Amino acid sequence: MAEAGTLHDAFIDELRDAYDAEKQLTKALAKLAKAATNPKLRDAFETHLEETQRQITRLEQVFESLDEKVRGKHCDGIAGIIEEGKSVMEENFDNTTMDACLIAAGQRAEHYEMAAYGTLVAWAQTMGHTDAARLLQQTLDEEKAADKKLSGLAEGGINKGAANAAHAEDDEELVGAGSARKNSKSGRR
Ligand code: ZN
Ligand code: FE
Ligand code: FE
Repeated sequence: MAEAGTLHDAFIDELRDAYDAEKQLTKALAKLAKAATNPKLRDAFETHLEETQRQITRLEQVFESLDEKVRGKHCDGIAGIIEEGKSVMEENFDNTTMDACLIAAGQRAEHYEMAAYGTLVAWAQTMGHTDAARLLQQTLDEEKAADKKLSGLAEGGINKGAANAAHAEDDEELVGAGSARKNSKSGRR
């Protein structure tokens, strides 16, 4: 009977998963940047794309620090998130609404990465892989910052712009909450 795997084996497995996820994300972030209309949003995706390329290099350093071969293993989780983002991009939305949807897609990816790197940092620390832990923490911090930046853009005007387009008539009539419903046309909301 094969020997049971250890937490160290699971750690290496998760590193391979993260390595593949980052590679998938470089392609996805380029598409998100291209689809964005708001220049600040486009810039945020492009900046995070450059950061992601450095995260790939950083993961290679993590493998080296553990005397492990650099290797990826297909990450189904991020593939699913990217797939959903792609189908949103195929929809016919007005520009601001599309930007709001791109932020939603991007934040799903960032949260997935935050979960993955959070675990990786914790495991590396527990097992005494201090170099790996330090490198992984740097990436975790970047993912959190990227997520925050997207929230800032959404809350700093993009969501409001999209909401105004969705409820233009309500705004014109300055109606109260009670009568707002009547003014919304059926369908799009
Ligand atoms: Zn270990
Ligand atoms: Fe990343
Ligand atoms: Fe990221």
